[in-house]
Amino acid sequence: MRLAGLSSPGASRKGRLRRSAHYRALRRFWERLKGKTLHRVHYLLIASLLAAGILGYTHYRNSLFYVVCIDGIEAGLVREVAEVEQFLNSLMDKCGLIYGMEVFPRQAITMTRELRLGQEANLQQVEKALRNRISLLTEAVMVTVDGVPVSPVCTAEEIADVIETLSLSYIDDDDSVKLLEVELEEELAGEDCVVPPEQVCSAAEVANLLLDPEKLEQDLDLQTASRLSLASRDGRENRIDGSGEKQEIPLVHVKTVEEATQEEPVPFPTTYVNNNEMYKGESRVVTEGKDGLKEVTYRVTRVNGEEIDREKLSERIIIEPVAKVIERGTLSRFAWPVAGGGRLSQGFSGRHNGIDIAAPSGTSILAAESGTVVCSSWGPATGNYIVIYHGDYWTVYLHNSRNLVSAGQSVSRGQVIAKVGSSGNSTGPHLHFEVRRGTGSSKWPGYYYYTSINPLSFF
Ligand SMILES: [Zn+2]
Repeated sequence: MRLAGLSSPGASRKGRLRRSAHYRALRRFWERLKGKTLHRVHYLLIASLLAAGILGYTHYRNSLFYVVCIDGIEAGLVREVAEVEQFLNSLMDKCGLIYGMEVFPRQAITMTRELRLGQEANLQQVEKALRNRISLLTEAVMVTVDGVPVSPVCTAEEIADVIETLSLSYIDDDDSVKLLEVELEEELAGEDCVVPPEQVCSAAEVANLLLDPEKLEQDLDLQTASRLSLASRDGRENRIDGSGEKQEIPLVHVKTVEEATQEEPVPFPTTYVNNNEMYKGESRVVTEGKDGLKEVTYRVTRVNGEEIDREKLSERIIIEPVAKVIERGTLSRFAWPVAGGGRLSQGFSGRHNGIDIAAPSGTSILAAESGTVVCSSWGPATGNYIVIYHGDYWTVYLHNSRNLVSAGQSVSRGQVIAKVGSSGNSTGPHLHFEVRRGTGSSKWPGYYYYTSINPLSFF
């Protein structure tokens, strides 16, 4: 227990010294008298003087008090220092029990011996003044974050608790996660401080405050308020640094490094198998693909729970994926329509509905695919021409020197249907070959009715 500024017991020692000095003076006076013959009157005089002296001394003794001051302001008079000490100790013990920590008065309490003639001791008044005017302080440890004071805790040991709570706050309680490292990026330390006891926080409160300063500011106010009402004392205005200004609470960053294992799908691959009985562009799924499963272990670094880095450490296949197998046709949709090949002299474009294959006059023109001849005719621009219906497509052959099939006739793939020529709007012997998309009807309403497609994509 530390009582600020209690007067030393030196005052009473001084009193004793003064008293013995009086006795010595009286004795010396008596010694001087003893050697002489004294008249009765003298005895009477001495006796009355003695009586007056004793009376006066008793009066003087009864007017000596201890003056109790709180921060220099007089609170009252007491006879004994111990009376005040006892009361203060008991008051501090009671308050200490409420706060659960040792407390002492903020105010300086002094007791000085003074002669106060005609005054009375008033211990009760002094006790009342002490109860009403004393505010409390306690010795605590201020938690600092990189040197910035945050909040006081009871003991330095609690700083370790704060660090532990902070560290644990971002750790998942998950079996698949193994914690490798946890560290605070800021330095937490403690400084001895003296603060009102209601400001002292628990380690958990300080940890929460640092994790979420805004939210905890409210909680802290609530808790402080409840403690204040419990203790019914002031001191709130002297918050932490005593300036009354709230300091910005620094954020802490908890960095965790963990090894996390998780299952992930293994996407299935796709393989292709050629099928020479299917046309090019056609395909068929032979086997459906199925994703596999793997176990992947990562090294994950987080700051305050937020992932900032992830590094793959290992992976293990649990279930192999099943490849998707697709058969792809290799058969050309159409056979080349000029025997011997000829020479491609003009390609397909927006202004040219087909391709031109130059070849000597009389070269055989072959049916690109089996089908039904729907047109075998002549026009001023097309010259001799043939249209064959294949169901999904039409093929068109222009500028022939001679048509060898007639409408309604069935033809087979590669069958000679005409001869190369330069009839109609043509500058030399060639086959103008077109492919048109069919619509399921074998009716050929006219040259511009069906959409033309680049024939080269069918060979
Ligand atoms: Zn052409």
